[in-house]
Amino acid sequence: MKIAILGGGLAGLAAADVLSRDNDITIYEKNSYVGGLAASFEHKGKKIPLHYHHIFDHDQVTKRYLKSFGLTSTWRKAKMAICVNRKMYNFTDPISLLGFNHLSLIGRIRYGLFGLFVYTFMNPNKIPDHLDAQKWLKKATGKEVTHKLFVPLYAENKFNIPLSEISAKQFAHRLKAKEATGLFGYPKKGLDEFINRFENSLKKRKVKILKDKPISTLDCKNKTIDGESYDKIIVTIPVPEFLKIQKNFNEEEVKRISKIKYCSCVSVVFGTKKFLSNHYWLNILKEKTHMLMQHSYLYDAYDSKVNWILRYGGSEEDLELTKDMITDKYLADVRKYFPNSDIQWAEVFKEKYASPIYDKNFHLNMPKIKNGDIYFAGVAVSYPLIRNMNTALISGRKVGKQVQKDSL
Ligand SMILES: Cc1cc2nc3c(=O)[nH]c(=O)nc-3n(C[C@H](O)[C@H](O)[C@H](O)COP(=O)(O)OP(=O)(O)OC[C@H]3O[C@@H](n4cnc5c(N)ncnc54)[C@H](O)[C@@H]3O)c2cc1C
Repeated sequence: MKIAILGGGLAGLAAADVLSRDNDITIYEKNSYVGGLAASFEHKGKKIPLHYHHIFDHDQVTKRYLKSFGLTSTWRKAKMAICVNRKMYNFTDPISLLGFNHLSLIGRIRYGLFGLFVYTFMNPNKIPDHLDAQKWLKKATGKEVTHKLFVPLYAENKFNIPLSEISAKQFAHRLKAKEATGLFGYPKKGLDEFINRFENSLKKRKVKILKDKPISTLDCKNKTIDGESYDKIIVTIPVPEFLKIQKNFNEEEVKRISKIKYCSCVSVVFGTKKFLSNHYWLNILKEKTHMLMQHSYLYDAYDSKVNWILRYGGSEEDLELTKDMITDKYLADVRKYFPNSDIQWAEVFKEKYASPIYDKNFHLNMPKIKNGDIYFAGVAVSYPLIRNMNTALISGRKVGKQVQKDSL
């Protein structure tokens, strides 16, 4: 069969992996590189991911792929912190939680008990799809923890919509997927090597990878991509990108999936002489930026310490700003918390479609995996699982197997 895959991110690569043994596969990728959100850029002869990336021990499919390409990972116990009102609180373990006086003592106890529940008895699959995160969290943690912690952390920082609009079920999956032990992994030879080896393994199996190939028309009825016909087409590009290029897709479906919204992300990756603090992951509340990640705690392979400061929710307003404007704005937050930081260089990366917004109606609006001979894969069809490399790979493999089954 002749199969086209739209998008050379991890979902597209995984779908190609499943299908390439028996089929003629073409991947269309708009960028000059594959890897999508997990791609890297070059700095002083070394590759750095465009955005922070780590793996967890339970990311089984990512781990299996790494192993199949002969790659191992380093695992580090990493510390976390919360920055709020110009104060930095260690937030790594139950003991450090005791010092988090942004919450009252009762709030801290409730948060601690909630954490325990999340990592033990909580089954996210039992949470109804329509339940909103605010209702669920208020019941589970009380008003104070919900408003002082989860509203800024998740509603404002992540999606920039009210907590009452966000899916409780997907949020619970996110919480469950966070690493309770604080163990974070990273490929020993870098994330870039993972993508390189993935790409090379597909090329060996004669998969055609067309880079710098943004598609302008996908005719869903005639199964053509810019005039070229296929038997099956797999879409892994963001839903709004699909809607822009599609022709003759079922009208009801177009109406339904048009309701899916995405949040953007802008990351400033910068080098410093020294670590800023002893934390790998710092959540920042009530500022323009939302997270500071000190990558060199996982992968100290560069001539400077590599960090990201980034913004998800609200970053749409920064997409049109120049690199210098963004750098000034974002690094001001770094300097607010680390006035002595010695910043040596900075680069900016913008993603208009960094993640679907998993609102409480997402389950009603997400694309169906199979629509005749047009299939969807990637993080837009992975609800209620969290958006990460592991779920993108799972989704790509799943759609590959579905296509195989349908062609028997
Ligand atoms: C800031 C940030 C931090 C993250 N951190 C982690 C982490 O720590 N751990 C983790 O596991 N995951 C992390 N992720 C998530 C992970 O990167 C993604 O879930 C995963 O890479 C998504 O893969 P995908 O193939 O579904 O989508 P994408 O990577 O978005 O791939 C889609 C591809 O389609 C291409 N495309 C789009 N439009 C067109 C078009 N018209 N024509 C042709 N091609 C097109 C794009 O260029 C892209 O290559 C992070 C993501 C971000 C943004």
